[in-house]
Amino acid sequence: MPSVEIVAVGTELLLGQLVDTNTAHIAATLAAAGIDVYGTQTVGDNRARIAATLASALERADGLITTGGLGPTVDDLTKEAVCDALGLDVELDRTSLEAIETWFAKSGGVMRENNRKQALLPRGARVLANPNGTAPGFIAFRADGKFIASMPGVPQEMKPMLAEALVPYLRERFGVGDAIYTRVLHTIRIGESEIDHRIGDLFRTLENPKIAVLAHQYRCDVKLMAKASSRERAEELIAPVQRDLESRLAGHVYGCDEQTLAGAIHALLQQANQTVAVAESCTGGAICAALTAVAGASKSFVGGVVAYDNSVKMQLLGVERPILEKAGAVSEEVAMAMAAGARSRLGANVAISTTGIAGPDGGTPEKPVGLVWIGFAAADGTVKARRYELRGGREAITARAATAALGLLWNYLHKREPTGSTYS
Ligand code: ATP
Ligand code: MG
Repeated sequence: MPSVEIVAVGTELLLGQLVDTNTAHIAATLAAAGIDVYGTQTVGDNRARIAATLASALERADGLITTGGLGPTVDDLTKEAVCDALGLDVELDRTSLEAIETWFAKSGGVMRENNRKQALLPRGARVLANPNGTAPGFIAFRADGKFIASMPGVPQEMKPMLAEALVPYLRERFGVGDAIYTRVLHTIRIGESEIDHRIGDLFRTLENPKIAVLAHQYRCDVKLMAKASSRERAEELIAPVQRDLESRLAGHVYGCDEQTLAGAIHALLQQANQTVAVAESCTGGAICAALTAVAGASKSFVGGVVAYDNSVKMQLLGVERPILEKAGAVSEEVAMAMAAGARSRLGANVAISTTGIAGPDGGTPEKPVGLVWIGFAAADGTVKARRYELRGGREAITARAATAALGLLWNYLHKREPTGSTYS
């Protein structure tokens, strides 16, 4: 079976200033595509050392994949090193030059001589187009047919190039039949053991697709992995199992693949023409951050208040002092008053709130670390709160509380949906 090795180029990687996520992404992508990776290496921005690394790796592997060092600056030396390792000189690639010229014409930037140099590719190389940047990638060949495929270091440029150009090339070149295609179903408000109880039989008997359950901070994913010759064929294998899983986990699946919980919430809010406001104490803005991470959030997110001190709970959210004094800041009453206050004062249809003890200090026998109240208020007059006892350190408790709050909101919005459809 043919194999490749991955070489990440960049001095920042060797200094520990930058974490090499490119290698992990390429390795995972190739594994899913049915292509064997037999080794990975990192090398700094030094022409001789890059060339030596490439030459020795190419003695073992059928091909190499590099990332980084394709830019226009003096420390970008990968292309020169590839030529050294393969015994090639460079030639101008007209199509790449035009693409670079078009890129600058569109972006309004000034094209320099060093940008023109980016269109010089190892002689005989196959271009890997870069729609997201100026540096083209390429596949350069040694006389015996072994190859080095080089892609830019910037992940947003590298990932599409890998998926759209390099993987199809490698699959064809290596005659790879089957690849692994995945579908991830995201669930909320259901634990790993309950999921196992409901789908365990499929989990244990199905071969293609295989099923796995992955637990995250206060939510779980169910992953379907199908081995097939094409995405279409994989879909045929996945679809009936996905339908079965969705009906067994009904009311808990908020989306699949790229969908986020906050994204699913926005979709439901926007379908219903509604808005949400947030009042956060122990989560410190994490819920607002999740909600605003979604493109188009402004259509359904009004805003939020991080009400840490009681004075802010009173002044900005209208929580009454006697409630705070009698029940304490971490209580059902205060969570409800925070949600109701956020809803009316920020002018939203629904609101959620959090108040809790994230620790490590501040716990008591009655109110232990991890105790979190999540409040909810809606325009129909509903105001309620739910008690959670969350495990873990401070970071885990706040992350879990934010997910639990979003889960509570999603559950309310989703149940109200007349069609019951959770996503499209
Ligand atoms: P550019 O045209 O931006 O110069 P390049 O192909 O020359 O791109 P580098 O200069 O090596 O790539 O890296 C550019 C940036 O891409 C780095 O600062 C870093 O943010 C990111 N990057 C590079 N290599 C990796 C890697 N292995 N993993 C994650 N990110 C990386
Ligand atoms: Mg660079």
